Amino acid sequence: MGTFFKKLASLFCAALFMALSLIPLSAAYAEEPEKNFIRWVDNKVPYEILMSAYEYEVKYHDSDTVDFDFAKALAYLATRNGNKFSVKKDLKALSDLVLSLQQGKKIDDYFGNNRYYKYYVEAYDAIFSQFIGEYTIEETDEKGYGLKNYHPFPKGYWFNHSDDFGNSRSYGYKRKHLGHDMYGSVGTPICAVEGGVVTELGWNRYGGWRIGIRSFDKKRSYYYAHLRKNQPYIQGLKKGDVVQAGQVIGYLGVTGYSFKENTNMSCPPHLHIGMQLIFDESQYQGPTEIWIDVYPIMKFLAHNRASVYKDGMDYKARNLKKTI
Ligand SMILES: [Zn+2]
Repeated sequence: MGTFFKKLASLFCAALFMALSLIPLSAAYAEEPEKNFIRWVDNKVPYEILMSAYEYEVKYHDSDTVDFDFAKALAYLATRNGNKFSVKKDLKALSDLVLSLQQGKKIDDYFGNNRYYKYYVEAYDAIFSQFIGEYTIEETDEKGYGLKNYHPFPKGYWFNHSDDFGNSRSYGYKRKHLGHDMYGSVGTPICAVEGGVVTELGWNRYGGWRIGIRSFDKKRSYYYAHLRKNQPYIQGLKKGDVVQAGQVIGYLGVTGYSFKENTNMSCPPHLHIGMQLIFDESQYQGPTEIWIDVYPIMKFLAHNRASVYKDGMDYKARNLKKTI
């Protein structure tokens, strides 16, 4: 019995020692709780799925019976397929989902408590929340519901692009291509995909003449690079300006990859467009930036291209969709 109590006493002492030695550590953690926000997003939703979900969204946006939601539908599919999309299987899964919604089910009934589903809802909402909605056409006052964000190339201007996100590039050292290249003719007017505030404008040794625009809700930032030598931007555009979706902001060119301002690269003219997601301000600039693949998004946006006309030195867009 004596040894038993001794053992118990020494165990108790050890436990007490451990508990005491843990106090400062846990106190330190208590002062700085781990912030909980999304740290990475792989946007893998194919164009065909975006289009199909978009058609359902337009069809059911004011339905009292069918509770469809664009971002939730994409989140439902990604949760179901583990973010490995198959156009055929997921188009079928999406139409089956809509059939069940027509019978009174809610999207949240399926994965409402699943943490992956919650993650995807937040991620797709951050990407697409301002893409679709009610709008008024500026000049005609006509109202509608649909795609509000614009393709960067206006109607009638050719472009060529392919899935190039994440390809390796080298400039002194290896860097991943965290954007999307769209080939076209020098001088093609470039439209803002989404409205927002101009946060960057000027020369960058990689991007050449470039523009950064942050969305009004601050969750997205767009980067337009390699703009035209000598006349990269519309007259007077500057940091802090507010631009609207579809507005002409600059011109396609081939500048960049030089410390020397206004230098052309030796490659075909193209627009580099990047889309960054920001869930926490620490992700805005620096090593934790989240850039997503916009190739399918650009194909989606090709359904909404601005009409432009020449106005003095610049081009302007007409009949833009304005958010109500
Ligand atoms: Zn690029």
